[in-house]
Amino acid sequence: MECEICKQKLTEDDACDLHGKKVCEDCFIEANAPTKSCGAGIASGEKSAR
Ligand SMILES: [Zn+2]
Repeated sequence: MECEICKQKLTEDDACDLHGKKVCEDCFIEANAPTKSCGAGIASGEKSAR
């Protein structure tokens, strides 16, 4: 099988389910991460949670 986003080869073990698509871990994390372009998404999220 292969990642539906980057077409990387995957084993069933490596595949993550993203809205019904089989994707690699990298793409799965990327898809679930806040927008990286600003670089402050995660940090500011942590601060506001406190
Ligand atoms: Zn991928």
